[in-house]
Amino acid sequence: MSYEEPVPADRGSARTLRERRVIESAAAELNGYLDLSYEIALLGRSCGGEGSGYDPGARLIELCYEDLTEQRELFETAGRRPAGEEAAAVMAETVFHEAGHALADALGLRFDNDRAEEDAADAFAALMLIREGPPGERTLLTAAQAYELAAAHTGPDPGTDEHAPPASRAAAHRCRLHAASPTRYPPAPTALPCPDTWTNALTPLLRQSPQGSA
Ligand SMILES: [Zn+2]
Repeated sequence: MSYEEPVPADRGSARTLRERRVIESAAAELNGYLDLSYEIALLGRSCGGEGSGYDPGARLIELCYEDLTEQRELFETAGRRPAGEEAAAVMAETVFHEAGHALADALGLRFDNDRAEEDAADAFAALMLIREGPPGERTLLTAAQAYELAAAHTGPDPGTDEHAPPASRAAAHRCRLHAASPTRYPPAPTALPCPDTWTNALTPLLRQSPQGSA
């Protein structure tokens, strides 16, 4: 795990990411839960336009300082300021989402299409956060709220993005929270009916199986 020197515009976000130990905490959770045959590196950096992502060739998860800036602005524009905590929560969900891609790669999982892999990565992120109990649940709720704020900005047209539309990602996270803890998390009023069970909520992840391996 390492951090590149940020470009000047990203200094504040880089500091927030480091001070809140977002990557370190997520890495500790992942190391405690997964046992992969090789190491996956985590890097905080100024990405210059590229979003956070997993590079299978380099076995590297890149977390972009700019993404934290974008999330902080999203919440602050909506009147929640300062929103360093919210932005850090979304970045934690991002680390686990990218770890989901890394895990899919390590296990040789095959998906019907890119959207299916993105949905599974979201489900994995939710699983990792819900495992942490109430603090992780709150982080996941913040991520769902971020997708709701993004949906208000982007409208319903998904464009060419391989991810589900933000409103769908928000609803899916809220359903996972509801499945994990129905009393603490009511289903989102605008969402499609949630699956009944935790297992169903995680179906996009669980139905995948390694190909050609024992
Ligand atoms: Zn993804």
